[in-house]
Amino acid sequence: TNSHKYLEPIEYNVWCIFTKVKNMNSPLKFKFDNMLSSILQYSSIVIILNIISDARSKYIVESVINKKINETGKQLIKVKYHSVETITSALSNLTVTMQPFFSPHPGAYYSDALFFISLGLYRFAPPQQKYAIMLDIDIELQTDIANLFKEFHSFKEDNIIGLAPELSPVYQHILYVYRSHHKHTKLGSPLSNGGFPGLNSGVILFRFDRIRASKLYETLLTLPAIQNLTSKYSFKGHLGDQDWYTLVAMEHQGLIHQLPCSWNRQLCLWWRDHGYHDSFDNFAKCDGPSFIYHGNCNTPIPKH
Ligand code: UDP
Ligand code: MN
Repeated sequence: TNSHKYLEPIEYNVWCIFTKVKNMNSPLKFKFDNMLSSILQYSSIVIILNIISDARSKYIVESVINKKINETGKQLIKVKYHSVETITSALSNLTVTMQPFFSPHPGAYYSDALFFISLGLYRFAPPQQKYAIMLDIDIELQTDIANLFKEFHSFKEDNIIGLAPELSPVYQHILYVYRSHHKHTKLGSPLSNGGFPGLNSGVILFRFDRIRASKLYETLLTLPAIQNLTSKYSFKGHLGDQDWYTLVAMEHQGLIHQLPCSWNRQLCLWWRDHGYHDSFDNFAKCDGPSFIYHGNCNTPIPKH
């Protein structure tokens, strides 16, 4: 195969979403600032930061970036802006298909169209982008982002997306009915017990070239395919894109490259205090270093 041709990218593209930021005191601004600082602190490469934004949020993020470039005196990033309105309206069919299965209820946090953007991002990335990384902004790098790009080397030939495991019992909870009929299933069990706890979408590696060429991927975005899988696993989610990735991985393991948990060390403790006190630590367990901290559900990232 000629897949080795792809291993050295000409460009290191990173995507993130930065929307609905109203003013300079917004928590999202500080999260982005922290993420960017942590990238620049360790980075050995020039990255292209693709920011999906609205006009007001763009104005705020531009000021954060310019300040950062002035402070560090290094031009380690190039920035490209993409309109969130353009993208979400082009993806409205996809969003309408997904929402009944992977959103809590209309108006809730994860019902928002922005939580489904990653699924259709390959349609907006320019064709010469053969692969890219997408990051939540509530994360902090602890190592060179070039090392995350090196994870593409570990993709098998049929892997099209890379994601790290979910480190909470959320999918054990969601798969309650399925698990009661399949007593020995790995699905919804902790990683540390050899189980499959689902996937977290805070850090995503895309082989856009393979996604674009995949009939299966396209099919899996359609209503009949989603009806089929959600009914097979009695699955009703509420976390947007990551519910879809988890469901797809349960049925088509080969599509997903599972990143080491070090690349997405989630810090949210919500499930520990909501019925999973005894098993939570088993889910959250991740041996080895933390390369990326993910302060999900608004959890502060510890100073270290
Ligand atoms: N996001 C945004 N504006 C919002 C909410 C979310 O731009 O008002 C983006 C941001 O990039 C964030 C991502 O959507 O990192 C996912 O949301 P969040 O990290 O809050 O979800 P969690 O990781 O807590 O599940
Ligand atoms: Mn997050």
